[in-house]
Amino acid sequence: MTTTSQRVTAWTPQEGISSAVELFTRTFGTDPAGVWASPGRVNLIGDHVDYNGGLCLPIALPHQTYVALSPAEDGRIRIVSDFEGVEVWEGRIEDIAPGGVEGWVAYAAGPAWVLREDGLDVGGFDAAITSCVPVGAGLSSSAAVECSMALGLAELAGRPFSGDDADRARLAALCTRAENLVAGAPTGGLDQAASLRAGDAHALLLDCADGAAHQVKLPFDEQGHAILAIDTHASHQLGDGQYADRRASCEEAASLLGVGSLREVADTTSVVDLDAVLDGLPEGTLRSRTRHVLTEIWRVQEFVTALEAGDIATAGRLMVESHASLRDDFEVSVAELDTVVEAAMAAGASGARMTGGGFGGSVVVVAPERQVAAIAEGVRELARRRGLPEPQVHQVRASAAGGRLR
Ligand code: ADP
Ligand code: MG
Repeated sequence: MTTTSQRVTAWTPQEGISSAVELFTRTFGTDPAGVWASPGRVNLIGDHVDYNGGLCLPIALPHQTYVALSPAEDGRIRIVSDFEGVEVWEGRIEDIAPGGVEGWVAYAAGPAWVLREDGLDVGGFDAAITSCVPVGAGLSSSAAVECSMALGLAELAGRPFSGDDADRARLAALCTRAENLVAGAPTGGLDQAASLRAGDAHALLLDCADGAAHQVKLPFDEQGHAILAIDTHASHQLGDGQYADRRASCEEAASLLGVGSLREVADTTSVVDLDAVLDGLPEGTLRSRTRHVLTEIWRVQEFVTALEAGDIATAGRLMVESHASLRDDFEVSVAELDTVVEAAMAAGASGARMTGGGFGGSVVVVAPERQVAAIAEGVRELARRRGLPEPQVHQVRASAAGGRLR
């Protein structure tokens, strides 16, 4: 990782390959059969809409997790990761069943079990994992591990997953299953879709109602705009039931409105009918949370239209509106996120918003390249003045999905 005036950039693929091969060779004493990698992601817009069958728009990051792999004849599995110091886990495929492994091993080994359940001939293997995806920053280091392992293990088992989107969607679903069942994290599939289905210089418009994905070309490079993912370093507090509470509100609202999901309401109404729709709900949080979900789905659609027209100013305005909606209507923001958004906008960003589940994590910023240094300084300065942790600024670009590198 390179640090330039408070900005952190990802490893180059060559640096990533070298680090994984070096760890493999140092640990197992041989050269690996191959190296695979898969990226983290950041969602440009469309949060807390996935479980409402809505639309979201992630990009894959240049930050990837790298896996060097070789088959092992005797069914023995050894996995080493640079995560929290270097540890080697040793076991067999049967040990990986849900409940059998925990911590980082569940994320790293889970795909082996799921692929085998799906009928692939996954036997013993040696794996060395290295990563430059920030962990626990809401940038999906977990999916990066799962997807890189799954790509490699499937290929070793004689079933390489092609670049075909339907094929990639299948692998993404298996990785989501691994995160749900083996790691025990009830996530929805956005992360794995971004890691395996995103395209270079494109965002992935993911329809969470049916899993369909479309590539949206981004105008940022050609208009001299940068994308920043700014980790607030605020501690995650999602475990305290907030996520489940928001989900339950959305389900209750859908049921009171007589629909299967709030997406159906978004598709059959528009902003002019919003008050009439909300009148069908009791006053209070049910109304405000529903207002977030509906307006957020519409904002994703408007955002895509703006991007296709090369209209970054409108896209930026929609990001700021999205942040206000998540903060005021959905109540999932925290001071650390609001501070970074405020400082980035004050320092000349085109748009900024919290990204992901909230209660910590990262802010995504779109800004003219020439403003990036001022934004990096501005967010650190305002956080310092408010006594908040120092945010870390990652300059990113929309990158390609995972695949084999060596
Ligand atoms: P995020 O995906 O936003 O970074 P999560 O809590 O979903 O946060 O996932 C983080 C977990 O993923 C880590 O605690 C660890 O268990 C696993 N993980 C992340 N990176 C690695 C890695 N390089 N090797 C092994 N496990 C990893
Ligand atoms: Mg994750």
